[in-house]
Amino acid sequence: MRYAILSDVHANLDALDAVLEDAAQQGVQGFVCLGDFVGYGPEPNECVERLRGRASVALVGNHDLAALGRLDARRFNLFARAAVEWTRTQLHDRTRAFLDALSPRAEFEGMLLVHASPRDPVEEYILDWETAEDNFRAEAFSVCLFGHTHVPMRFAHDGERTRVLALLPNTPVALEPGLRHLVNVGSVGQPRDGDPRAAYTVLDTEARTVEVRRVDYPIESVQRKMQACGLPRPLWERLAEGR
Ligand code: ZN
Repeated sequence: MRYAILSDVHANLDALDAVLEDAAQQGVQGFVCLGDFVGYGPEPNECVERLRGRASVALVGNHDLAALGRLDARRFNLFARAAVEWTRTQLHDRTRAFLDALSPRAEFEGMLLVHASPRDPVEEYILDWETAEDNFRAEAFSVCLFGHTHVPMRFAHDGERTRVLALLPNTPVALEPGLRHLVNVGSVGQPRDGDPRAAYTVLDTEARTVEVRRVDYPIESVQRKMQACGLPRPLWERLAEGR
């Protein structure tokens, strides 16, 4: 099976639609969402609607929980908090009920799925090998797919050492069976690795490969919508920079 693993859509419908189109071209048969459907962007309900029927598994993220009022938005920076507060006023009951039923962690095809990290599925950021190693030691997974940092990355652990491995755009890489793997699938709606294109990952369970896909989408269209919603300027400016 070929699955599209999506994370951190953040209410960016233009990016999500571009990703869904690319996934169809990639022969993807199923979808998995690792959380943060909402927060930052202008179309939270629409993004949830697009994914509700499609996703075999969906997780909840920290921004979703904050928008539901289940996580204190004071933990966020000023702009993220403003977006969460705006989102809270926009969510339909149906969207709220969908998000409220999700967990930040699940098992899928023999893999662990989390929004943030295996030992803290809601809030920890894995951006360096030390944090990755702490997580390899804390939990017994063989492959874990995660999101939250908005930076596609891959770590492998051989029982002793943890290494950061290359993850180039649109290039499949093997999940070697002798190693344990942590793979960040990137962010659909707010990439932060300097590449403004939308990101998601194709997981091929037969070939045991992952491929981070980068997809162009109409950034100016989202920026106009965010402006019209009164969302903070730095939040829409950063989309063009991918930071
Ligand atoms: Zn996020």
